[in-house]
Amino acid sequence: MAGELAGKVAIVTGGASGIGQATAELIVEEGANVVIADVDTDGGEEVAAKLGDAAAFQHTDVSSADDIQALVDFTVERFGGLHVMVNNAGIAGSPRRFLNDDLRDFDRVLAVNLRGVMLGTQRAGRHMVDNGGGAIVNTTSIAGINAGAGFTTYRAAKAAVIHFTKSVAIELAEHAIRVNCIAPAHIETPINSSLYEVSEIVRLMQPLQRQGRPRDVAEAALYLVSDRAAQVTGVVLPVDGGTTAGLPASQQKSISAATARPKDGEQ
Ligand code: NAD
Repeated sequence: MAGELAGKVAIVTGGASGIGQATAELIVEEGANVVIADVDTDGGEEVAAKLGDAAAFQHTDVSSADDIQALVDFTVERFGGLHVMVNNAGIAGSPRRFLNDDLRDFDRVLAVNLRGVMLGTQRAGRHMVDNGGGAIVNTTSIAGINAGAGFTTYRAAKAAVIHFTKSVAIELAEHAIRVNCIAPAHIETPINSSLYEVSEIVRLMQPLQRQGRPRDVAEAALYLVSDRAAQVTGVVLPVDGGTTAGLPASQQKSISAATARPKDGEQ
C-alpha cells in the first residue's frame, strides 16, 4: 500500500549504502520525507539526489552527540517535524578470534554501533516527546542474538542494542514513542561482502535458501514504523531467513547421517 507514511518525516542513519539506502528509498515511496545521515558524503548526496525533493542529506557521524543534535535540528527545520528515526549506521569491527584480537577497534565499534543508536534514540526522542510521539527502529544483528566465534566486539555491541532498545521502549512508552529492533542476517552489502562469501553462509546456515536483499530489511523497518505496528514496542524482529530458528534441514540431515549409530546387522 503506497502512501503508508504520508505526511511523516524520517531520518535514516547510514542511509548512503545497503540496508539504510533501501530503507530511505522505501520510506520515500511510502510518502514520507527523509533525511539521509551518513559519514559518506558522496554516497549520501547521490542517494538523496535520486530521491528528489522528498529527501535531503546531512553529513553525520552518529557517534557524535553534536552531529546527532544537528541532524535532528536540520530535519525539523527542513521538513517541519520528525516522526520516524531509523538508527541503522554500523561498522563490523575485527573478525579475529578473541584471544588474537588486540581490541584496537573496541572504542570505535561501540561508539558507532551502540552510542550512535543511543544518541539517535535520545535526540529524536526528545523531539518526539514534545510533538506527539513517534517510532524508532534500531538495527541490531543476529550476531547480537546468537553467540559465535569472532567479531566479539560487534556481537557485544549489537547485543547491547537489543537490551537498550527494550529498556528505552519501556521508558518512552508513556510518551507514545515506540522503540523496536530489526536483526538482519546475511544481506550482501559492503559491510560483509569484503569479509566473507555471503552466499556460502546462506547455504550453510539459513533455512530459507534465498539471498536476502536490503529491501527485505527495509520492509521490516517500514512495518515497525508504520501504524500497522501501533501495538508493537520493545521487540526484536529478525530478518534472517530463519537463521535464528535453527540450522537448514540439509545441515541437520548431514549431521544425522554423520552421527547415526549403525543398526543391528550393519557394520
Ligand atoms: P553498509 O556498509 O552497506 O552500510 C553502513 C552505512 O553506515 C554506510 O553507508 C556507512 O558509511 C555508514 N556509517 C558507518 N559509520 C558511520 C558513522 N559513524 N556515522 C554515520 N554513518 C556511518 O552495511 P549494511 O549491511 O547496510 O549495514 C546497515 C546496518 O545493518 C548496520 O548496523 C549493520 O551492522 C547491520 N547489519 C547488517 C547485516 C547484513 O547482513 N548486511 C547483518 C546484520 C546487521
